[in-house]
Amino acid sequence: MTILITAKDYKSTNLPTLKKQYADLIEKGTIPTLHVILVGENPASVIYTRNKKKFIENLGGKCEIINLPETISEKELLENINNISSSPDIHGCFVQMPLPQHLSHLDVGQLIPPSKDVDGFHAENLYHVMTGNFDETTLLPCTPKGVIKLLKEYKVELEGKDVVIIGRSMIVGKPLSLLFTAENSTVTICHSKTKDLIEKTKAANIIVAAIGKANFLNADYLNEKGDQVIVDVGINKDSEGKLCGDVDTESMKNKCHAITPVPGGVGPMTIYCLAENLLVAANNLRNK
Ligand code: NAP
Repeated sequence: MTILITAKDYKSTNLPTLKKQYADLIEKGTIPTLHVILVGENPASVIYTRNKKKFIENLGGKCEIINLPETISEKELLENINNISSSPDIHGCFVQMPLPQHLSHLDVGQLIPPSKDVDGFHAENLYHVMTGNFDETTLLPCTPKGVIKLLKEYKVELEGKDVVIIGRSMIVGKPLSLLFTAENSTVTICHSKTKDLIEKTKAANIIVAAIGKANFLNADYLNEKGDQVIVDVGINKDSEGKLCGDVDTESMKNKCHAITPVPGGVGPMTIYCLAENLLVAANNLRNK
């Protein structure tokens, strides 16, 4: 029987501790406060930011969504980011992606000071990921951090295991490969130009799909032993408009050891890790 690796299980064990950490900091006079810059009204972005706000407010933190018009100039956007970044009462900040076409050249992760970069995209924070020199006070990129946490919660062995990650983006594939490396896994990163992808996934102990293509990975990519662990990072819509991952979960049932579902797997872990990073940032700034 294939095990479902869910964020719900992770939260039932770990959320009370996170809530207590928020409560302790609030009692000391610091309310972890996040500002999210949302440019335009991309429907998916509106839902994502709303979910993040709800989660942080449920923990007792504050989350303000700064709605800026789709037509905002680069200068005005940068002014907004600067104002938020320099406010001592704001501990975390990020710009919800994607940005409108005329602003898409901006590397917004680099515009937010590393101490408030709760997304973990700033070069200074990524340097810790590169060196493997990080601890619980480091702002790690949320989705990769969530994947490792989820696997550890389910006691999936990482050391010495062969991991194939499909996708080499800066927000998922690349940083995740470094977090697996820090866990002493052996990582192969695959992408659209990779030859013989099926051979590579069949040889892996853990397969991560971060591709952005609905139901891309099916049982043909698995070995015959049924002992592999599959992590589905994808968030897509299928041909009927239904939310789905990069993995055709139905075809995988009973053909792999464990799998993360979509929805209910990596997605909620990303929000959990964002809230955890906000707490880290608030604590770091307080202890400065
Ligand atoms: P991305 O920047 O578009 O990167 C996609 C990667 O997949 C690229 O490296 C691309 O290769 C590779 N790829 C595309 N087609 C392929 C193929 N046929 N065979 C092998 N590799 C292929 O996407 P992303 O931002 O990393 O996001 C990936 C997915 O994760 C999306 O569905 C996104 O919505 C989701 N996501 C989820 C969360 C979450 O919280 N769960 C967070 C972030 C992203 P090339 O580099 O060669 O183009």
